[in-house]
Amino acid sequence: MCRHLAHVGPTPVTLASLVTEPEHSLLVQSYAPADMRGGGTVNADGFGVGWLGPADWHLYRRDDPMWTDASFLDLARGVGTTALVAAVRSATVGMPVSTAACAPFRADGRLFSHNGVVRGWPHSMADLAATLPALDLLTLDAATDSALLWALVRARLAAGKDVADAVAGVVAETLAAAPGSRLNLLVGDGEQIVATAVDHALSYRTYPDGAVTVASEPLDLHHGWVPVPDGSLLVARPGGVHDPPAVTVSAL
Ligand code: GLN
Repeated sequence: MCRHLAHVGPTPVTLASLVTEPEHSLLVQSYAPADMRGGGTVNADGFGVGWLGPADWHLYRRDDPMWTDASFLDLARGVGTTALVAAVRSATVGMPVSTAACAPFRADGRLFSHNGVVRGWPHSMADLAATLPALDLLTLDAATDSALLWALVRARLAAGKDVADAVAGVVAETLAAAPGSRLNLLVGDGEQIVATAVDHALSYRTYPDGAVTVASEPLDLHHGWVPVPDGSLLVARPGGVHDPPAVTVSAL
């Protein structure tokens, strides 16, 4: 199962400090993940990193393993950001391996990632998919469960829901339509991180300057990572130097 992470904070950090440099970085999790519940041994079907620049999100995605991309490893040391969403992918059997299928997906100033699988795909989701405008289906990022989940979240946002409500609603409807699905969803909008833990690992940590990182697996062994209980929704907003980040974890 894929691994993902998100970060938001008051001061810029390099992509490398989150994605490639920590002892159990996303790069390490691409070839030696520690907690791959539900199958898969490596996350080698591609990767994506989205970061907030001065005006908008930038997205770098490839359908190769992260460790083969020397140019990304170099770029990551030179780019700074206050908000990031990144993922390494282990494609679910039967789903396409392509750049467009690699999270994060970007739309309307937000990034989205999904760790897991929708059971009974695609038949189990036919009724939910039918609630979407045809154009949303014709413009899915890829023919994957993750891309459909993102379209369902976006439809709820377009209807006026806030991110936490939209994500929680899609998880509830998907579990009803496809019981047993693994649904760790993650949305970053530059100001907050909203994430779910549904049958998959998730942890977070905070920093003295008010930043917060959420990740499938802790990036190191020493920094007070807090596991998120299964069946939870996490909302994290950064603080400042005298102002701790606000992290709430509630039952879904
Ligand atoms: N099912 C999704 C995909 O194939 C996510 C895969 C995963 O979490 N391993 O892209």
